[in-house]
Amino acid sequence: MDKTALITGASRGIGAATAKYLAARGYRICINYHRNEQAAEALVADIKAQFQVPCIAIGADVSEETQVMRLFAEMDELLGPVTHLVNNVGVLFKQMQVTEMDAERINKMLTTNVTSYFLCSREAVKRMASGGAIVNVSSVASRTGSPGEYVDYAASKGAVDVFTRDLSLELAPRGIRVNCVRPGFIYTDIHADAGEPGRVDRISSQIPMLRGGQPEEVASAIAWLLSEDASYVTGSFIDLAGGR
Ligand code: NAP
Repeated sequence: MDKTALITGASRGIGAATAKYLAARGYRICINYHRNEQAAEALVADIKAQFQVPCIAIGADVSEETQVMRLFAEMDELLGPVTHLVNNVGVLFKQMQVTEMDAERINKMLTTNVTSYFLCSREAVKRMASGGAIVNVSSVASRTGSPGEYVDYAASKGAVDVFTRDLSLELAPRGIRVNCVRPGFIYTDIHADAGEPGRVDRISSQIPMLRGGQPEEVASAIAWLLSEDASYVTGSFIDLAGGR
């Protein structure tokens, strides 16, 4: 069976690393991005040149139901139906106390980091009549919290953890496995978006392994959970956080 993967939020960071990691293992790849078409198209060109697999990029804001429907319809037409889904999209906003957060920020966080996982999983499952696999990208923040910085983000990842457990139980009899990775502090641009580009280095002395992680170290765990090597694994969590 052809393996056809959709990775949401994959124009850079962990999503881009995962797209490359899966392409190297023969998957057909659909890269979803939001705003950075140039980066997504450059990644497509790179993957096609390096790995000779079919690869496309589709722009869609996956927090919006109509855009999710269009994303999956376009993917069906251009690449074929998804067999492996990585719900990777995630945003982090400026550090602040809960007492400073307004509803617009909180709702944006939840629709991007949680609603999108529901919608993309729903559309993927419709296409996985012969089984499939889903990996959700959560965070160790769901365990440790982010007081004074990003409680909205930590709460969104707590929801992803519960979603993973419950969806895995709903789908287990249908041959669809659902698992989760929880990265810690990984070198990507998400930290700059939240106003602190040097955050991983600032925190690294508090990480038991005394360093931040690389996106490829997360991608390899995602690839294992998607693969047949993990054929009896569902509802499971892999923390990639250097011991945190
Ligand atoms: P990143 O470098 O900031 O990349 C985020 C990606 O998401 C970009 O490709 C962006 O696309 C896309 N995106 C943002 N909003 C979108 C939307 N509404 N619809 C579709 N795509 C959207 O992030 P990352 O650090 O790789 O994080 C990936 C995942 O790992 C997230 O779930 C994050 O919470 C989780 N995580 C990261 C860390 C870390 O330390 N980096 C730690 C724990 C968990 P455009 O650029 O095209 O707009």
